[in-house]
Amino acid sequence: MKTSEIFKTKKVLSLEIFPPKRTAEVSTIYNTVNELKGLAPDFISVTYGAGGNENNTETLNIASAIKNTYGIESVAHLPCINLTKRDVLKMLDDFRKAGIENILALRGDINPDVISQKEFKYASDLISFIKDNGDFNIIGACYPEGHIESMNIVDDIRNLKTKVDAGANQLITQLFFNNDYFYSFRERIAIAGIDVPIEAGIMPVVNKKQIERMVTLCGVNLPKKFLSMMERYENCPEAMRDAGIAYAIDQIVDLITQGVDGIHLYTMNNPYIAHRIYTAINTLLAA
Ligand code: FAD
Repeated sequence: MKTSEIFKTKKVLSLEIFPPKRTAEVSTIYNTVNELKGLAPDFISVTYGAGGNENNTETLNIASAIKNTYGIESVAHLPCINLTKRDVLKMLDDFRKAGIENILALRGDINPDVISQKEFKYASDLISFIKDNGDFNIIGACYPEGHIESMNIVDDIRNLKTKVDAGANQLITQLFFNNDYFYSFRERIAIAGIDVPIEAGIMPVVNKKQIERMVTLCGVNLPKKFLSMMERYENCPEAMRDAGIAYAIDQIVDLITQGVDGIHLYTMNNPYIAHRIYTAINTLLAA
């Protein structure tokens, strides 16, 4: 099923997982998927490291198993910066054979240590290419606070419109910790004529290192309330985990109340945290 269809009938809950880095640990992801199955997600998406991660081939295998073994709709991430058109054609063929209908089409982060192929410059180039070469549902990434390389949010939204016009039927946001950015972004993209469903990407933060990495990578803003929480609990892992879960639930309750189309939970392959959040928001999604 094309995941863009699901938004027509309900608020969507999707989960994101990543292939374990070490080949020996890859099989553990199937235990994770098994545990996530109980949350009845509308889809599970599987990341793909643009920087040449050795386990990238697992994205296809895991997305295929989610769909064909576990009976959950899956989305395969596909960052194009280091791929040739020939690579992408091969991957589209593999997706088709595995019954994967949904692709999160991305540019990928620029890694100075990896020579980019230069056949796709932006995600919108990949989106047009996929559209011309198959009948896939194409999803795009978007950035409520603006993409880190963007000069300003206006340029970024103009580029997002290009991405949607190229064929993205659905959007998922980068994580954010201040919902006001999301609401202002939602208004701005509506004015720009972007009217595809948009899911809010929420990441429960469970340790300080994780958030420091995210801030460097994505440049997201950390509200005062969030910083105080990290400072107060940084030396007590359990309290930090519980506070991070509570913060994410608080964000989600507000987003659902304000009519968000869907929630995309960055699970960090941690079913326990996903279960706690799901238990708290399940009835709200259905109301
Ligand atoms: P683009 O849409 O190409 O945008 C990149 C930059 O170029 C932006 O600043 C944009 O404003 C600008 N731009 C776009 N089009 C134009 C144009 N025509 N002219 C001038 N400027 C333009 N990365 C991975 O490697 N693997 C993953 O699995 C992965 N999953 C992700 C999932 C989500 C939900 C999100 C939000 C991000 C994910 N990323 C992943 C990270 C993503 O690859 C990076 O954020 C990357 O830096 C940008 O990707 P993009 O597809 O948004 O790029």
